[in-house]
Parts: sequence; C-alpha cells; structure tokens
Amino acid sequence: MPFTDNRRFKAHPRIVVGAKDMYYISDDGREILDGTAGLWCVNAGHCRPKIVEAVRQQVGQLDYAPPFRMGHPGAFELSERLIRFFPGGFDHVFFGNSGSEAVESALKIAIAYHRVRGEASRTRLIGRERGYHGVGFGGISVGGIGPVRKAFGSLLPGVDHLPHTHNLEQNAFSRGQPQWGAHLADELERLVQLHDASTIAAVIVEPVAGSTGVLIPPVGYLERLRGICDRHGILLIFDEVITAFGRLGASSATEYFGVVPDMITIAKGLTNATVPMGAVLTRPGIYEAFMNAAPENAIELAHGYTYSGHPLACAAALATLEVYEEEGLFAHAQELSTYWEESVQGLKGLPHVIDIRNLGLVAGIELESIPGKVGERATQCLIQCFERGLMIRVTGDIIALSPPLIIRPEHIDRMMEILSTVLQKVD
Ligand code: PMP
Repeated sequence: MPFTDNRRFKAHPRIVVGAKDMYYISDDGREILDGTAGLWCVNAGHCRPKIVEAVRQQVGQLDYAPPFRMGHPGAFELSERLIRFFPGGFDHVFFGNSGSEAVESALKIAIAYHRVRGEASRTRLIGRERGYHGVGFGGISVGGIGPVRKAFGSLLPGVDHLPHTHNLEQNAFSRGQPQWGAHLADELERLVQLHDASTIAAVIVEPVAGSTGVLIPPVGYLERLRGICDRHGILLIFDEVITAFGRLGASSATEYFGVVPDMITIAKGLTNATVPMGAVLTRPGIYEAFMNAAPENAIELAHGYTYSGHPLACAAALATLEVYEEEGLFAHAQELSTYWEESVQGLKGLPHVIDIRNLGLVAGIELESIPGKVGERATQCLIQCFERGLMIRVTGDIIALSPPLIIRPEHIDRMMEILSTVLQKVD
C-alpha cells in the first residue's frame, strides 16, 4: 500500500466501504466524519449525485478517445471552462491523470519553453525544502522530503532548493499567514548569483505546503519570489494540487494571494477525486513560444499520456465545477474560515501541542515528538480518532485537517471534540 506502514496496517486495518457527503462508512458499519476530504481532494463532499450521473452518462456514450492527433469535445470544453474558472489570465491547459503527472508536465514544459525560445541553457530547476510535488523523478528531485528521495539514487541533475519557511521560534500559533519569513525568498537571488540566471528554467513551490504539515507562506514571501523570477526571466510554477478548488476559500492560491505564477498544476479537487485527473495551466506566451519558434529551435512538445483528457475525467470535472459554482462552495469556505480558525486554534494548550497553523479550511496541528520515535504520537492520534469516528491525516507528528468544503459548524465542533479527547488521552 502506498505511503503506508504495511506491517503495522495489518494490526489496525482501516477499511471504508461507502461514502456520502461528509462521511465515510467503515466496514463495520460506522459513520466516519471525513476530516481530510479523502486526501485533500473530495472538496464537494462524497458521492455527489450530479457528478456520479455525469460519469455514468459519459461512460455509456464515449468511454475513451485517444488524445494523440485526435480529440473529443469534453476535453476542449473543460479547457475553456478552466481558463475562465481561474483568475490570472492562464490561456492553455495540458491534461494528465494525477498531481504527479501535472508536475512532470509543468517541469518539462518549462525546460522545453526556454529551448524553443533559443535559451537551451536554461535547464536548472529550483524547488524547496519540505516541498511535495508527487512521485515522478522530476517531482521528487524538486521536492524536499528526505524519505521520499533517499531510496532512488542521484535523481535529476541541476536541481537546487530554497529553504522552507517553517520556524516554530518565530511563528508558532500564527493565525493565517505568519509575519516572519518573507526574506527567505531572497535565497533565490543567491541561487541566481551562484548558478547564473541563464541556466535556470523554473522555480516550483506549493503556495501552501500541504503534505509536509500545512506550512503557510509568510506575508510577502510569494510576492518576493515572483519579483525575483521576473527580474531574471525564470518561470514561476505554483503547485496548486492542494490549494486549487476552494481549499483557501478562493478558486486557487493564485487568486487568494494575488500573486500570479506562469503555470499552475492542479489535480485532486478538479474532479472531486471521482476520476483521476491532473492538469497544467499556462500563461500567455508559453503555448505561442512552441507554435512560433524560429526554425532552428522548433521542436514538438513530445510528451503526453494515453489517458490525457480522458472522457470520464472531463465529464466528472465539468460536473464538479458546476457543483462548486451552483453551491457557492468557495464563498462558503471563506465564510466558515473564521469559525474554523477559532476552533482549531482553540486546541492550543492541550497536551503535546506545540504549534497550530490555519488558513481557509486547512489546518496543521504539530505535536511534540516522542524522543527517538518521530511520528508515533500522531499515528496513535490517527488510530484513536478513526476508532472514535473521525478521519485525520498525519505526517511525522503533524496532524493535517482539510475537510470537504460542504462542512458546517456542527461538523467542526464534532471534529474538535474528538481531537481534544484523543489529544488528552494519547501518550
Ligand atoms: N503536488 C502536491 C502539492 C500534492 O499535494 C500532491 C499529492 N498530495 C501531488 C503533487 C501529487 O499528486 P498525486 O498523488 O495525484 O500524484
């Protein structure tokens, strides 16, 4: 099983057999409140009839269409919808099947983009410590998580990392964006001096780092990254696999922070996780660079997947976007974010809690680790929460919460009740 302590799982198997709206149903028939929207992806809640019906209809009408030298209307319709859906002026879309594939696509587009413009020396990629960008070789190379990288050799050459922005001494229990840390973006300027801008293709960051424990960007940090990239002709990629589709109470982090990158990667909430799908959106000039390249630089973007723009995924995504809009789910998330902040920050003072971070409808609760047993305390919380009817996610000793956006105050109260009981009991 992926990212699972397989030996230990057998001792505490957690199996779900059904789901509806805010709840999973476990194999022993219990309702489990979904505190994580699956894996940050079921943003509209589970088994929404409109999405289920759209997929059902599509599978009976056009089950599959090759995306190479052919198309089907759903993929074009979805591209048009996504371009209008996200502010920021993105004007082209490239589809894959997951967040990892979206990231690989974005990194390859970045390098090839410079090449078709006659700057083939720009191949270096810059990620960030504690960044998670999926599990392709590109993604783990720009990603900054030791355990995800260390079994796989030397990875991509020519990759560097910015420092992460997590600092308990400066920022513990910040509500929303921490005040301290914007200057850490200036490390990019140092890397430019070190390697020379003419060798750097792109910088990729998660605007809010999710998988390593909900790290919220300091005030001014993303703006500073944007400024440095602009000065040196470096493409800025926001990996919005978690932050797009309402998690922050806006369509995207791009909209929420008002900082527009050159590409965004999306997945997860794109189809409400009903059918796997990921995509890259690019800003004006990127597609045109390939179309209008001088003959000596011209190359095709030789990249794509058998299931790029799969008809079922397109149908699911189009229905999902309708649900988000008809139900005003992003505005709902925005409205509830104050109640959410008060509730999660209310866990301060409970045993072992050394930091709480929140933004929109996402939160990270960091626990002190048991010496020599990193992750043990949070794993105990996960097991006990599940037994009491709440699904949480843990990473190291950080509990991450990201409920479906249809959540109501009474669900938040129930989540906090279970969490505080468990935090008081856990060793
Ligand atoms: N990027 C980010 C920011 C993610 O959070 C994830 C998944 N958690 C990925 C990429 C990879 O997505 P997938 O698991 O769909 O490949």
